[in-house]
This record gives sequence, structure tokens and C-alpha cells, in this order.
Amino acid sequence: MDSRTGETGVSVTSGEECRAIFSQAIGENRTYLMEHECKEILESMGIATTGFLVAGSEDEAVEMSNKLGYPVVLKIVSPDVVHKTDSGGVKLNLADEDAVRAAYGEIVGAFKYQHIIGVAVQKMADPGVEAIIGVTRDPNFGPVLMFGLGGIFVEVLKDVTFRVLPVTLQDIDEMIQEIKGYPLLKGYRGKAVDIDALKNLLLKISELVLTFPEIRELDLNPVFLYPRGNMTVDARMFVSPVPETAPQQSSGNTVEQMRTLFYPGSIAVLGATSVEGKLGYNVFRNLLFHKFAGKLYPINPKSESVQGVKAYRSITEVPDPVDLAIVLVPASAAVTAVEECCRKGVKIIVVETAGFAETGADGKAAQERIREIIKAHGCRLLGPNCSGVINTHVGNVQSIGLVEEVEKGNIGMTAQAGVYAAGILTGLRHVMNFGIVATIGNKMDISETDILEYLGSDDHIDVVAMYMEDVKSGRRFIDVASKVTEKKPVIALKGGRTAAGTKVVSSHTASLAGNDEINSAAFRQSGIIRARDNEHLFGLLKAFARQPLPRGDGILVITYTGSLGVAATDTLYLNGMRLAELEPELKERLKGILPDYVTSLNPVDYSFSMDAEQLRKTIELGIVSEDVGGLIVVLQGEILGSFVDTLRSIDYKGKPILSCVAVKEFMMEDVIRMEKAGFPVYSTVEMAAEILADMYRYSLRKDRQAQA
Ligand code: ADP
Ligand code: MG
Repeated sequence: MDSRTGETGVSVTSGEECRAIFSQAIGENRTYLMEHECKEILESMGIATTGFLVAGSEDEAVEMSNKLGYPVVLKIVSPDVVHKTDSGGVKLNLADEDAVRAAYGEIVGAFKYQHIIGVAVQKMADPGVEAIIGVTRDPNFGPVLMFGLGGIFVEVLKDVTFRVLPVTLQDIDEMIQEIKGYPLLKGYRGKAVDIDALKNLLLKISELVLTFPEIRELDLNPVFLYPRGNMTVDARMFVSPVPETAPQQSSGNTVEQMRTLFYPGSIAVLGATSVEGKLGYNVFRNLLFHKFAGKLYPINPKSESVQGVKAYRSITEVPDPVDLAIVLVPASAAVTAVEECCRKGVKIIVVETAGFAETGADGKAAQERIREIIKAHGCRLLGPNCSGVINTHVGNVQSIGLVEEVEKGNIGMTAQAGVYAAGILTGLRHVMNFGIVATIGNKMDISETDILEYLGSDDHIDVVAMYMEDVKSGRRFIDVASKVTEKKPVIALKGGRTAAGTKVVSSHTASLAGNDEINSAAFRQSGIIRARDNEHLFGLLKAFARQPLPRGDGILVITYTGSLGVAATDTLYLNGMRLAELEPELKERLKGILPDYVTSLNPVDYSFSMDAEQLRKTIELGIVSEDVGGLIVVLQGEILGSFVDTLRSIDYKGKPILSCVAVKEFMMEDVIRMEKAGFPVYSTVEMAAEILADMYRYSLRKDRQAQA
């Protein structure tokens, strides 16, 4: 075999040989490569397999077996047989010539009505830990790698994990450690299997699939893993002609363009009006009310002025340049409006009007027309069918609903649905402050990935939230998210977790890859924290937005009631955290300030006697401990107000503190005081503990990346 290798590690000649195998199969209208063909491809990449010998007669099978040495395995080779064992197509552990002759006869007999190419003759591999390695293709993310424990129970145990290709060594490390069977691989004493060889195999499979897009799906099942090396015992590939793929859009200067969306120097509003109750009233009123820090041009053919501001009949009549145009005219007039905006030279158009692709054929056609126009002018478009963006830092509030006073904040958010974004902004403004909210609607042009990329670069934004229903930009989403999460946490809430989708399933890998598994893999891979539900999302957001990251996994829990101390402890340990152990000297000092009936030093349980002064002393003592990475305080709701000023006066030395107030819904005023002072409050101590763990995991990942 030639050893010249290309960038991917696939050698040049072997590349040509592989391509010949694919072309032949595709030429014969096959969708599937037989085991021996797969193994020839794998061997050419330096992957150890049980070989690809195929006998055409009983005598040839015997001759091959004699050469290989016994015991051997015989298997049916037929383009019609996918699962060979099911119909008696695999004969294992054949000890001598007689056994080979008998097995040969049985196989040929069993498949006499199928198209038989021959009978494969392989060495019987030594038993090892059975693994499965697979690749399937996701409509959004493209090829996805799967690894897990294999064998006949693979579909029952479902102990598998996924990553979107291409993968890094770090991804592969995480995959291996993530499966439940990892202890089996690691062994109890020393190494049970050769993990380096396994990593190497996974990398090679990833290279193979990226080099040959003809491979639609692939299953290596089983691969036997040994203390040294591994052996691919069975392989299957599903192939198809290479489909033409649309290039993933990314127009170089997206970040600069998005900056104009959020910080425009001037905004024209097409359809602005003084008539209350209309969307054109609300949007223009929002911009005025929030004192947009730039020029405003209402466009209305029938009015001299709108809400006291001089109006123009058409955007083309505005004497000065316009950065951004908001289009509120009906869908039927939107195409012309967009055309005029482009002629005027606006950089960003926000189409808030509904009635496009989401409504039917006419709407779809209009949306297509708009797409062509903006493409021709190099202009970018948000929407249609959205609620614009909000940037509280410059009073750029484009929402279709009236938005009352909001504070400037450090949370950035993208959402598909406008109502969702506007609603949470109004409802949550007491407990968390948003800097930027972007609604993307039909995302005809600007996608969640464009917004995410931008939010990563905005200095006002410390935490990014994404509410998403589908991910369009697949691989680019992962690349962008991976970069952003190196700088700031990204938290996603993804709808559609249960819809597994009905797809024709051919490989084990495809049957194990529900849509949601792939989404989870993509999030994990790019360091995105996945929120379980809305409550978890908001809980995470306020913690990340207002508290520093824990620098250790030891937590000090201070509580007024023992049971919540126990609950906190359980949740911490379940999430990979632990109770901090104070240094002996600190323990002595702590004992000195506690009433004698308080015996446990972590959780510190005050049994309904904690006052603000005691809390302050306990926190200040705990903060000093090297082993304390963060704190959880459980506060009594009835006297919550008495703690706020004290908590505010403490120097936390960069350590996070989360609090729990059971049934906080009944003391909202004091809870809001706490939140406004920067102390996130949770109804359950489990939520506080879980979120501290989420924060710690994120900080570990960030450290790791900083070192890499
Ligand atoms: P299929 O998956 O199409 O039914 P396989 O080739 O995977 O067929 O064979 C079925 C099982 O037989 C494998 O899971 C493995 O346990 C065993 N087996 C197959 N080939 C070998 C071999 N060469 N050495 C050892 N065991 C084998
Ligand atoms: Mg198999």
C-alpha cells in the first residue's frame, strides 16, 4: 500500500481504491456495501479487521481456512443480506476442515434463493469488550459519530453517545468517558481496554466519513476492544451518490452587520403611525419612549408627522443615510418596501409583518422575492414575522408590543417567537436585566447563529440565552457556539425534545439517533448548557448574570432547617459536587460563634434561630476557607427582609452565593429586593445546588479551553 497521505490521513492510493469500491456499488444501484468491501476500505486506513477473504467454492474456503489457521468463521456474502446472523448466515468457531465444509454447505443451502457472491472466511477473533461505532447523517448537522457498548443488546441498553463531525480529540475523550459502561473500558485495576487505540479508531472513522461523502451511514458492530489494540469484526456501510449540498452561508462580516442591527445610527419605520393600537404605533412609540440614541424617521405616505416627529412619504425621500429600516406594512406591500429600502442603501431591514412563508404559497413567493432583492443589494434581513430586537443600552426597542421601562442588563437572548421574547422581558424585568433580545421569526436570512456570534462579541453581554425550536445552520452553529462559550456561558432551551421523527431506519446507528440525541450532542460539543425547562433556564440565567463562577467543587451550606440541608447535600453529590470541609482552625472559630445546639458544621443548621448577624459571621468565616468554592444559604421567608442589607455588605471574595427561600412566591417583595441586590433566589434548594454544579462544570470547561 502506498504511504503517501493526504491532509486527512487517508493515503492517496487507498483513497482511489476506496472510491472504486463506492463507484462500483453505486453503479450497481446498491445502497449498501457488503462486509468484505467495508473491511477492505477499513484495512486500507490501517484499521484492524478480521479480513475480507471471500471463497467462491467449498475447496477455496478450506484452502483459505488452512492458511488462516483454525478456528475460523464463515459468513454469507450477499448484497441482499444485511443482517447475516438472523437467517443462519454466520458460522462461528469452526475448528477444522470438516467443520468448514459442513458450514459452507449450510450457508449456501440457507441462501439458495438469494444472490450469493460467495462465503467470507475469517479468523475467529479473540473475545473482547464489544463496542459499536457508527455514523449517521442528521438533516441539520450532517454526519454524526456514535460510540457505545455494542453486541446484541445495543438497542436495548442504548448506552451510546454522539458527536457531530468533525470531532476533536477532546470530543472523543468525552464520548468515551460519557457512556455508562466507561468503568468497563477503564477496568477496575489498570486498563481493561486500550483506550488510545480506541480513540485512534474513532478518529480514523471520522476522517473516513469526511473524506468519502458517499458514506451515508456506517456501523462497525461489533468492534472487540482488547487490552492492546482492537478488532473490527463486522462492518456495514450505506452509500449513495454524493448529494449537492448548499454551501453554509456566512458572509464574512456578519458580526459588523449585526452590530448595525443592534446599534444603528438611524432607524426608519415604514408604517409608523399616530393611531394608537396599531403595530406601527407601538413600534415607533417604543423607540421614542426608550429614547433611542440615534435618528428616527417615520415613513407614512399620509401623515406630515408621526407622534410628533417629522414623517416622510417614502424612505427614498429621507435626505440623510439610513442604517436600519423596520418594515411594518402589510405583506402585500412588503416586497416594494424592501426594494425601496435597498435602493436607499439601508444596511439592515427588519420585517416584523407576518403573512409570509408561514401562511402558504403566495407568502412563500413573496419571501423568495425578498430574498433575491436583499441578496442583490448585499443587505441583511431579520424576520419576517418577528418582533425585531431590543437593545436596552441604546434604547433600540423595536417590539410590536408596548414595552415599559427596562433596566440595562448583561443578558443577551435570541428567540424564535416574538411574543415569547417580549413576554419574558416584561415579566422578568424585576429579577433579571436583559441587554439584548433578538427575535428571528421565519429567519429567512439572519439566523440564531448570526445573533449568537454577535452576542459573543458584545461587551455589554455576559450571558447568552437561546430559546430555539430548530437549528438551521448545523455545523456553523457548533463552530460559532464553541467560540462563544470559550468567552461567556450560553444556555439553550430547545423545544421539540420528544418528537423523534419518523425516518426509515437502516443502520443501528440511525435507529439509536433520535433527533434530540443529536441536539444534545451538538450542545455538549459546543459547550452550551442545556436548560431542561423555562424555570431551569431563568434560574441559570440569573445565576450566571449576577454571580461569579465557583472555583472549586466544595460548597458551604447554611440553613435554618435541617431537612433543606439534607436536600442540598443530596443534590450536590448527585451533580458531582460535595460539601466543603473547613480547615480545623476555621472549624474551631465557627464553633465559637454557633449556639451550642448547632452541631453540624456543614450544612450549618441553625434550627430556626438564624439572624442576620449570625449569617454574616458564618458566611465571612466560610468564605476564607480554601475548600469553599461557593455557598448556598437557605433563608426563612418570613424574615427574608432582615437579611438583604447584611448580605449586601459582605465581601464574598469572588465566590458565588445562591439562596433558597421555600415558597418564595408568598414574599415576592423581599425576593425582588434580594434579586435586585444581585442575589439569585430559588424556591427549592435542589435548584440552587444543581445550578451551582452547572456553573462549576462550565468553569472547568473554560479553564480547560484556556489551557488548550
Ligand atoms: P450480523 O451483525 O450481520 O448478524 P456479524 O458479522 O456481526 O453479523 O456476526 C454476528 C456475531 O458473531 C458478532 O456480533 C460476533 O459476536 C460474532 N462474530 C462474527 N464474526 C466474528 C469473528 N470473525 N470472530 C469472532 N466473532 C465473530
Ligand atoms: Mg454485526
